[in-house]
Amino acid sequence: MAAAVATVLEQMSLRGRVALVTGAGKGIGRACALALADAGAHVALAARTAADIEALAEHIRARGGQALAVPTDVSDDAAVDRMLARVCDELGAVTVLVNNAGGSGPNNPLKMSADELAQVLAWNVVPAYRLIQKTAPAMQALRGGAVVNISSVAARYVQQRFSAYGAAKAALNQMTRNLAQDFAPHIRINAVEPGTVMTPALEPYLTPERMARMVRSTPLARMGQPEDIAATVLFLCSPAASWVTGQVWGVDGGVVGPNF
Ligand code: NAP
Repeated sequence: MAAAVATVLEQMSLRGRVALVTGAGKGIGRACALALADAGAHVALAARTAADIEALAEHIRARGGQALAVPTDVSDDAAVDRMLARVCDELGAVTVLVNNAGGSGPNNPLKMSADELAQVLAWNVVPAYRLIQKTAPAMQALRGGAVVNISSVAARYVQQRFSAYGAAKAALNQMTRNLAQDFAPHIRINAVEPGTVMTPALEPYLTPERMARMVRSTPLARMGQPEDIAATVLFLCSPAASWVTGQVWGVDGGVVGPNF
């Protein structure tokens, strides 16, 4: 008798897989961690604020999932090593990785120093590179891994005041494409470019007038929610996306240029 073929919904399952989400305490990272846990992954949550990730771990357990909160600054190499060792001991080897921690505000190119620019470039690229490098050997040994890097539409929009953040996320996109070539066939590496998503990072910039203008100029006629990004991240992490690698997916309500 022929082996049963998994349905597409079964292929969205991450049952028993170990997933690590950086910046999991708030916003997009929190929603991604919840989605992966709902799909059956055992989720490691990394962010600096212990209270945020501990509360999320408790919430996931209350929904019947498994989660481990490990307070970590992902820009600190030694802290990342300690976090990965603990995750490996308590959950097992990471085979699903969501590099979400990152970000930056607008910059004035006459005022931002070269050192500050270097910091924005490094912050949006280096922790993701480091975590891929450190988790790849186990993924290769287990012959299966999936990575999603959280980029931004700022990587492709041409606009004033985003020379630093836009360049940093464009670098993350190109790193994604090239690492996907390095690590195929056993590890898939993709990126998601969120449009404007309602998260704590954005709150200080969201005046009612600006929000109304953004909704008016968004073809899908609303602001993005963290869950919009999480649904795409879940797909890209899951076996349903087993023929997708090196891609950068916009999840942006159909906006094709700056509307912030
Ligand atoms: P957010 O609401 O501010 O949440 C960021 C999370 O990252 C928090 O849990 C924060 O917790 C954690 N974090 C910050 N620094 C960290 C560090 N050094 N080590 C570990 N964790 C750290 O941000 P968000 O809006 O969800 O953004 C998440 C990602 O989406 C970023 O890469 C951003 O560039 C991208 N993005 C966002 C939007 C948007 O509209 N919101 C649009 C495009 C792209 P702690 O401070 O406690 O560490």
